Amino acid sequence: MNKAVFLDRDGVLNEDNPDYVWEVGKFHVLPRVPEAIKRLKEAGFVLVVVTNQSGIAKGIYTAQDVLQCWEYLQSVCGGLIDAHYFAPYHPSYNSASLTRKPDSLMIEKAIAKFNIDRQASWLVGDSERDIIAAHKQQIRTIKVRTGKNETSPTETDLWANDLWEACDLIVGKAS
Ligand SMILES: [Mg+2]
Repeated sequence: MNKAVFLDRDGVLNEDNPDYVWEVGKFHVLPRVPEAIKRLKEAGFVLVVVTNQSGIAKGIYTAQDVLQCWEYLQSVCGGLIDAHYFAPYHPSYNSASLTRKPDSLMIEKAIAKFNIDRQASWLVGDSERDIIAAHKQQIRTIKVRTGKNETSPTETDLWANDLWEACDLIVGKAS
């Protein structure tokens, strides 16, 4: 079996924006993210982005826009991310979906596809719904402060300031 790190996108890999992020020109990868991705990959983790993109449901942007941002993110990260799942749903606009976090179907699909060992895996997110989705699949969580910076108490297993520090917790500071 393989071990994985599931990664929320907005607020973990790139700067979040309350008005959504869909243009490559405004897609700002956060500091040390490419370096953290490289470390996680070298430590043997399958890397899977799992992102809610309800802006598609709301007609603000298209799936094509999301895929262009994904291509750009991959180019900045050296092509090291293994998979990209996005949930283009919102219950008030098009449809409810078990793929949309806090439900966990995106994570479950990746677990099946990549033969993932839940106990050896992690999710890094910035929102309570990321944490809830991971815990539905018995995946440990690290909440980072680079995104929504929610101050409400959550049940996250660990906290880190950013993905690089989350990487320290996952693979150890010596690596
Ligand atoms: Mg987020």
